[in-house]
Amino acid sequence: MSGNYLLVLDAGTTSTRAMLYAPDGARVATAQRDLSQYYPQPGWVEHDAAQIWARTLECAQAMVAQAGGTDRIAAIGITNQRETVVAWDRRTGEPLTRAIVWQDRRTADRCAALRQAGHEQMIQRRTGLVVDPYFSATKMRWMIDHVADVATAGDALALGTVESWLVWKLTGGLHISDATNASRTQLMALDGTGWDDDLCALFGVPQGALPEIVDNAGTFGVTVPALLGGSVPICGLAGDQQAATIGQGCLAPGEAKATLGTGAFILTPMGRAVPQSAHRLLGTVLWQMGGDRHYALEGSIFVAGSLIQWLRDQMGMIAQAADTDAIARSVADNGGVWMLPALSGLGAPHWRAEATGRITGLTHATGRAHIVRAAMESMAHQVQDLARAFAADGAPWRRLRIDGGMSANDWIAQDMADILDVPVERPHDVETTARGAALLAGVGVGLFPDLAAAGVMASERQMFTADMNEKERGKRLAGWQALLDD
Ligand code: ADP
Repeated sequence: MSGNYLLVLDAGTTSTRAMLYAPDGARVATAQRDLSQYYPQPGWVEHDAAQIWARTLECAQAMVAQAGGTDRIAAIGITNQRETVVAWDRRTGEPLTRAIVWQDRRTADRCAALRQAGHEQMIQRRTGLVVDPYFSATKMRWMIDHVADVATAGDALALGTVESWLVWKLTGGLHISDATNASRTQLMALDGTGWDDDLCALFGVPQGALPEIVDNAGTFGVTVPALLGGSVPICGLAGDQQAATIGQGCLAPGEAKATLGTGAFILTPMGRAVPQSAHRLLGTVLWQMGGDRHYALEGSIFVAGSLIQWLRDQMGMIAQAADTDAIARSVADNGGVWMLPALSGLGAPHWRAEATGRITGLTHATGRAHIVRAAMESMAHQVQDLARAFAADGAPWRRLRIDGGMSANDWIAQDMADILDVPVERPHDVETTARGAALLAGVGVGLFPDLAAAGVMASERQMFTADMNEKERGKRLAGWQALLDD
């Protein structure tokens, strides 16, 4: 009889990992390998797809050994860095060129031309996405235009995002992409079933090279026995932010999750209605099961934990990130100091790419702690700006569930509850992305009837409730607004 562990493969941007979950939600083992980052030109970011595969496989093999063999693994769930594009040869199963990573800006001119030609409105209405090099479509076309091996591959060309690549390698030739990952390519209409003919033509991407779009849970294929020492079904697939939303148990409107890492990604479930943002938030697929789609609104903040890194590495104001909690508590307030953390422009809902950072209100009384505190206060304010945009798009938050490296900071968690005026919850295990993939695999293999039932795998949570008087809150909101308007 087969065992019931769920094996998660989490192919991230800086590292790839494999984790083993028990059906009660306990994470019993983890293996991790870093990924090489290639920066061949300013604004270009590449990965070696062969390395992603080799290191993911190594991690998976280590987890199978820990589990005691493939018989003890019920299913595999895969989650991945979204939008990154891999091109490979169907005959050899080998990459034709380096993968172009989501952060890569090389197609900025192509995107500007599409906007200039008046296509943005149509693209945004259909895909929920703004026209930006971030998404996969222009990266795919770039490969066809600039890489001879890709251009001449003809019918042998396979294009896909990272989960497609891993599934191909694991199964020995199955070419699929789940609906959440597909919704980030800019080639799928949010309410369409397959690839969109008009979008593929506009972006110049041959549909024959693209994978088949599938659900997020189900039995998609089985692994080639030689890889893991036995066959394991692949039963869950999702892009990382969608997986984290599911892993946080944010399944219905009113819920929201914020992943506070280098930057911050915030998603709110929107149910079955195709979201149309009037505030430059993104509409995206949250999950698809039995062909039935649920959607989310998404907003991203460019600078979150990276501001703390900047205080440490560039300013030398703190020795380590965790010190900020005590420093913020060492002063009664920000002493009139405000910080706009636009170190790489401002993201949603402002979208001011050219904005730069600012610190205001300095006097002889200003100390290091005031500046650190102002930096930390800017986190809640950035999230509050998004909260307002989500509410204006008809998606107000009842509470916010946080995860990511910066969520470990109690002061920031409490300040977010105070400024947002909703409860903020933090799971004890903040690895919500992998957990979401485990939930999907559990549903896909039939351990659970649906995602709600898979909630038994959720981690316990710590709650932060609003505890700031209206006068203080008003002062903070007014101070931040003045900084934005300045
Ligand atoms: P990513 O997945 O984007 O690489 P992580 O989720 O690992 O990021 O989070 C790392 C970020 O969190 C770093 O930018 C770091 O500065 C910040 N961070 C980590 N611990 C703390 C802390 N205790 N307080 C504030 N920020 C923190």
